[in-house]
Amino acid sequence: MKISIIAGTRPEVVKLAPVHAAFAAKPGMTAEWVATGQHGSLAEQAEAVFGITPDRKLQPDWNRKDLWSLTGALIDDLGAHYAQSRPDAVLVQGDTATAFSGAMAAFLANIPVGHVEAGLRSGDLAHPFPEEGFRKLIAPIGQMHFAPTRQAARNLKQDGVKDALIRLTGNTVIDAVQQVAALDRKPAVLDRVNDGERIILVTLHRRENWDEGVAGVCTAIRTLRNENPDVRIILPIHLNPRVRGPIEAALGNEGRIELIEPLAYPEFVAVMKRAYLILSDSGGVQEEAPSFGVPVLVLRDKTERQEAIRAGVAKLVGADAARILAAARPLLKSSRAHARMARRSNPFGDGKASERIVEAIALLLASQGQVNSPGASILPMMRTASA
Ligand code: UDP
Repeated sequence: MKISIIAGTRPEVVKLAPVHAAFAAKPGMTAEWVATGQHGSLAEQAEAVFGITPDRKLQPDWNRKDLWSLTGALIDDLGAHYAQSRPDAVLVQGDTATAFSGAMAAFLANIPVGHVEAGLRSGDLAHPFPEEGFRKLIAPIGQMHFAPTRQAARNLKQDGVKDALIRLTGNTVIDAVQQVAALDRKPAVLDRVNDGERIILVTLHRRENWDEGVAGVCTAIRTLRNENPDVRIILPIHLNPRVRGPIEAALGNEGRIELIEPLAYPEFVAVMKRAYLILSDSGGVQEEAPSFGVPVLVLRDKTERQEAIRAGVAKLVGADAARILAAARPLLKSSRAHARMARRSNPFGDGKASERIVEAIALLLASQGQVNSPGASILPMMRTASA
């Protein structure tokens, strides 16, 4: 059985790398890695960490500014790739243009689609845009839905996905973060942190935070630095020029604010482990931080990762300076308030999600025999396996 794994963004690489490794360890299965280039060097940096050499690198023009044109080009390129490579199934992850296009091209080529991290919902098509729409649109055309949490599985059922097609696996990001945390790297930026200093780690990249959001977060960061002489801010700046320019303009050359290039994943996780507090609009970071007991203030108005909020290890604060400050100040002032959020308990997974995904696919195959022709539906196998 040949599976095509489609990855373009940094989080897709991080979250699909452990699945790729689990396929490699499974006799009778081959997984090809198809890189779409969506995050360019950021994704390549993550591929290098996991020792992944793409079997195919697509080169759509990522400089097109319109999402419809980008998505159209990507569906075209992926469809052409499937026609030539003839995988038995396609695996996509999450909610990006890469994931949606990978799933849509496979659907149109009549190839079964598996969706890793299926079922996340914010309930608002505008937040996050376009991600909420992309992940919802994958649901009706996918044939295997790997839900990271019970809530995600419930969301899928609510969207009409049949129970028999859903597997509760945990999130593969926990598999990845456990693997790289064990490397225990020490990035150079940690050498600039003085003894006794508390680290606030910040990441910011989402479309909904461009412009106003970036300005609000930068104001909050400067204020927190001014108010707390023992705080050092570490901010690896995303390569996207829509956030990079404004952040550099607002915070360049400020004491105790380290604006640095994106860190390789093991280095980033090393900083996360050492952080006192994280401010982030990243989905992956919200999922990873509870593994290390580091509180996260989520720089968004809505999140599809309610599990961390409910567990009390993350708080939704948006990107408005006053709201960020109102949430951050008590955590910096009171070690008790901080301790209440700093619990090492991760609602997103246990580090075995990739194994479960590969086992589920293998089980389905074993129950039905090998699928040899592209386009052969695995729907009956899914039903048999869960019967
Ligand atoms: N990350 C990284 N280096 C950095 C910043 C983030 O390796 O300098 C990792 C982070 O640990 C997480 C992923 O990149 O696994 C998150 O990516 P991003 O914030 O771009 O996307 P999102 O999670 O919001 O989809």
